[in-house]
Amino acid sequence: MSVFSHPEYDGHEKLVFHHDKSTGLKAIVAIHNTNLGHALGGCRMWDYATEDEAIADVLRLSKGMTYKAAITGLNIGGGKSVIIGDPHKDKTPELLRAMGHFMNTLHGEYITAEDVGLNEEDISIIAGETDYVTGFDRHHIGVDGPSPYTAYGVFRGIESAVKFKLSRNNLQGIRVAIQGMGKVGFGLARLLIKNGATVYGADIFAENIDRAVRELGVIPVSPDGILQKNVDVLSPCAMGATLNEESIPQLNTPIVAGSANNQLGELADGRRLTEAGILYVPDYVINSGGLIKVYYQYFGADREEVISHIDQIADETLPRIFSVAREQRKPTSVIADELARERFMSGEVEQTDAA
Ligand code: NAD
Repeated sequence: MSVFSHPEYDGHEKLVFHHDKSTGLKAIVAIHNTNLGHALGGCRMWDYATEDEAIADVLRLSKGMTYKAAITGLNIGGGKSVIIGDPHKDKTPELLRAMGHFMNTLHGEYITAEDVGLNEEDISIIAGETDYVTGFDRHHIGVDGPSPYTAYGVFRGIESAVKFKLSRNNLQGIRVAIQGMGKVGFGLARLLIKNGATVYGADIFAENIDRAVRELGVIPVSPDGILQKNVDVLSPCAMGATLNEESIPQLNTPIVAGSANNQLGELADGRRLTEAGILYVPDYVINSGGLIKVYYQYFGADREEVISHIDQIADETLPRIFSVAREQRKPTSVIADELARERFMSGEVEQTDAA
């Protein structure tokens, strides 16, 4: 496999491989761009079928972090790491500690946090070995993880999209279909229902959807039918690449707004959504609440600052993307990329109290 000419390489600054013989750890850290500061991004543990798949994933995710940090106005660069292995079988405290030692060899150039396959407890174990980690309760003072903040950001992003596209100032009676009732999907459903929306949900794990039905009053839909559900907002909160040439013509919604990373199968899908008259809320903008939270947590700021920054994304950044996209007749995904690129290429950092 080629690396420098890999389609996802995109000028990455670093790709670092690590193998720890005694624990079996095989990990890769990708650092895409540090113009705005040290790289920050989660660590994903996944049972990749091949090493090539792991490399492609870490490169794609890490590049995404650069764009996300830039568009959210944070003074950090983009990076991500992956651990190759099945989190249900291969994850041991020793392996996580070895990941912590690996982090130290990068001297803080990359700061990690949780992602798919790792939870807050795992992150605490890594943190036992390194300071270059965030998004967990370091001081045991009951600080929560990133997911509730991601859910809040998606909720606020949906409000923003509904206002722009449907000219509605509240979510009363708005129908939302959520694909994936996991950490974010569940929290989002709770906020939506509390604010008068009707929520349809689907999950491939019966236990997750059953809990949402029982505890929140979510209306269950089969995982095969959720994307086509006739609703006001479709919210993909499971895995990526759900929006593609095949699925887009089948959508029955004026708005797509969810937390899943990399929702577009390919760049052209942004155009396909625009042409179908669907307002797509760019994934890495609407799901930035978790990153904002772990950023402030690392640099030390309080909950009010986190919430106010997330509100700013929904009240200023998203409406700006929607308006520019409409004016220039371009996909919202393209406008978000342009605005983000402009900022990280300029390397101009914001003056904040945090970093
Ligand atoms: P999670 O693993 O807790 O939940 C995902 C849920 O989706 C699981 O319940 C899973 O069973 C379900 N699922 C998987 N494939 C499905 C399918 N085809 N149909 C229906 N359900 C399906 O993950 P999460 O933390 O809630 O994250 C959800 C998405 O949001 C992921 O793509 C993640 O990368 C992204 N994201 C999460 C955060 C965060 O703070 N947790 C931040 C940014 C982005």
